[in-house]
Amino acid sequence: MTDSPDKPLLPGAPLPGELPGGVGVLGGGQLGRMLGLAARRMGYRFRVFDPEADSPAGQLADAQTCAKFDDVQAARAFASEVGVITFEFENVPAATLAAVSAMRPTHPSPRVLDICRHRRKEKTFLRDAGLPVAPFAVVRDAGELQQAAAQIGLPAILKTAEFGYDGKGQIKLTDAGACDGAWAALRTSEAVLEGFVPFSKEVSVVAARDVRGNCQTYPLCENEHANHILDVTTVPADVPAAVSDAARALAMRVMQALDVVGVLAVEMFVVPAAYGHGEPAGAWRLIINELAPRPHNSGHFSVDACVTDQFEQQLRAVCGLSLGDPSLRAGGAAMANLLGDLWFDNTGARREPDWSRITDMADVKLHLYGKAEPRVGRKMGHLTVTAATPAAARRRVIEARERLRT
Ligand code: AMP
Repeated sequence: MTDSPDKPLLPGAPLPGELPGGVGVLGGGQLGRMLGLAARRMGYRFRVFDPEADSPAGQLADAQTCAKFDDVQAARAFASEVGVITFEFENVPAATLAAVSAMRPTHPSPRVLDICRHRRKEKTFLRDAGLPVAPFAVVRDAGELQQAAAQIGLPAILKTAEFGYDGKGQIKLTDAGACDGAWAALRTSEAVLEGFVPFSKEVSVVAARDVRGNCQTYPLCENEHANHILDVTTVPADVPAAVSDAARALAMRVMQALDVVGVLAVEMFVVPAAYGHGEPAGAWRLIINELAPRPHNSGHFSVDACVTDQFEQQLRAVCGLSLGDPSLRAGGAAMANLLGDLWFDNTGARREPDWSRITDMADVKLHLYGKAEPRVGRKMGHLTVTAATPAAARRRVIEARERLRT
């Protein structure tokens, strides 16, 4: 279905005889939930498609279609009930996306999702567009892994081409003798071997592009990971202006090259210039690690700290409105994830964190995603603090989370 930039989907009820209004989201996780909160606030109707009843997004939707993501018939029925469609979950099957996008404007497009959810396609796309990525090689068996290791050099990281997230489906390879074992352990038919990047910092740019091609970027996020999962984001990142300017410019180039409509997060490594690869940024260089064609965990600070948060921005873009102002309303902001680990005590027994320990901290914002079942490593919620400086916000949000550990 062609985009109709002249006909935005406005909030409010459709007139009799018009197409149904409202926003349909494929995926019912926390990203869909926060998109739903923005939709509710603006007066949009909101429908969710997810196999799990009582999903985080379904809990606050007007309606949820409970069906498997490959149920094309259910997806068509879902599409007939909404005005536009977006997704919050990358692994929506191509056939489902093709079916709904033939019926309703769907943003980002199936093509963008097809590229961004597959590491080979994503890295190849970026490299061919002249955008900086780590040296990589495609690997389909143990023999190709040996060749790739010789070509790229070690250490390197072997990553499954599909279904990888939060460090899952990755093996660090330091010794060519370990190739056969690493290939067998990955249990996949296609992977990418990527040169190990000796980064100084990990950063991300949350960006958005509207149906007319106008772009906005949020202030640069500095991301700290624990066990490969995002742990704390601090904004603006503590980097020279040349680095944040170059990172934001890179994100714009990615959005233009992809022709994306919606929010897109670009995760990057900041490396010393001596590394040799990457986009020059003052005394540093930037390498793109991965793209997420949707609101991103590192952009959650924006809900409490920006004029327009990343979820409203997504809504604006997919509904064909112009973008909102992404500026930070404070000197700094920080976000700390709350993983399922907090729901278990030292003996491994299940407990509810004692929320009263942070609800008396007047500057701390609690976000819980309504997930009934905590698991170690599962994202259950997050905390945000805004403060005069990024460092003060970071200290405070970590202090708040520490109170929940004891
Ligand atoms: P990913 O799932 O690709 O985002 O990777 C998860 C984490 O692994 C990243 O946030 C980095 O901390 C680390 N990582 C991934 N790729 C590389 C690389 N090529 N070199 C060094 N560290 C990496």
